[in-house]
Amino acid sequence: FLELHVAAWVWPSGAQSMLLSLRDLSESRRVERMRVDFVANASHELRTPLASLLGFVETLQGPARDDSAARGKFLKIMGEQARRMTRLVDDLLSLSRIEQHLHLLPQSPVDMAAIVRHIADTLTPLAQDSEVEFIVETAGVIVPGDRDELLRVVENLVENAIKYGASEAPDGLRRVEIALVAQERQCVLSVRDFGAGIAPEHLPRLTERFYRVDAGASRAKGGTGLGLAIVKHIVARHRGRLAIDSQPGQGTTCTVTLPLQPPATRSRAG
Ligand code: ADP
Repeated sequence: FLELHVAAWVWPSGAQSMLLSLRDLSESRRVERMRVDFVANASHELRTPLASLLGFVETLQGPARDDSAARGKFLKIMGEQARRMTRLVDDLLSLSRIEQHLHLLPQSPVDMAAIVRHIADTLTPLAQDSEVEFIVETAGVIVPGDRDELLRVVENLVENAIKYGASEAPDGLRRVEIALVAQERQCVLSVRDFGAGIAPEHLPRLTERFYRVDAGASRAKGGTGLGLAIVKHIVARHRGRLAIDSQPGQGTTCTVTLPLQPPATRSRAG
């Protein structure tokens, strides 16, 4: 869509001028469309657990009032729904906070190997539940950044690799390989699984908010549909790149490339 503005005027000298300006509206319409879709999706995602919570409240106040067995069961489900809403609101807040600071370059020296080891430790119970093994290879790599945000990147990628990839992989391939190397003044982090992979038509849309290959499976695994959107925004704020390569039936590799800390400031790493 193009918007045409025409302005014409006559100078005191009698000379005439005309100004034509063209504005491309398709970009602003696309952004507005995305904003409207985002609000609709977020409301829908919150509405489902809320409706379920209200249903249980009404049942507990009415038909199940004196049924202590039902009460215990319902309260457990209500707790799960409330936690799901909390995760969603936390993710929405993270996303808007990162977006607000997109133009600010985070500058603290961050030890990426320590982050990878920390996430491998924290996610070990989740991996063990699904009989998934970690293979971790790290080099000493320091990047300028925000430690909490980079933790989030590694956590989301490794968690996805366990949940959607390795836990569904055939026996002998139930592993997640995490590799951290310094290459040509870049920090390269890759997270690889050997699961079902992702069909090519989904790949370009995976980092859109609320986009999931299988919404039911994602919700069942506690996903909000915002994980990769958050990863993409954090990586962009760090002036890095995110690449997702996948072969259906073979597995998925997510690679994050970040600029390295210049050598002069490396001694302050923490
Ligand atoms: P979610 O909260 O659903 O995990 P994400 O934004 O992290 O949201 O991921 C979006 C979708 O991408 C997931 O729902 C899943 O369908 C797909 N996905 C992400 N990582 C993998 C992977 N390693 N293997 C297969 N599918 C994946």
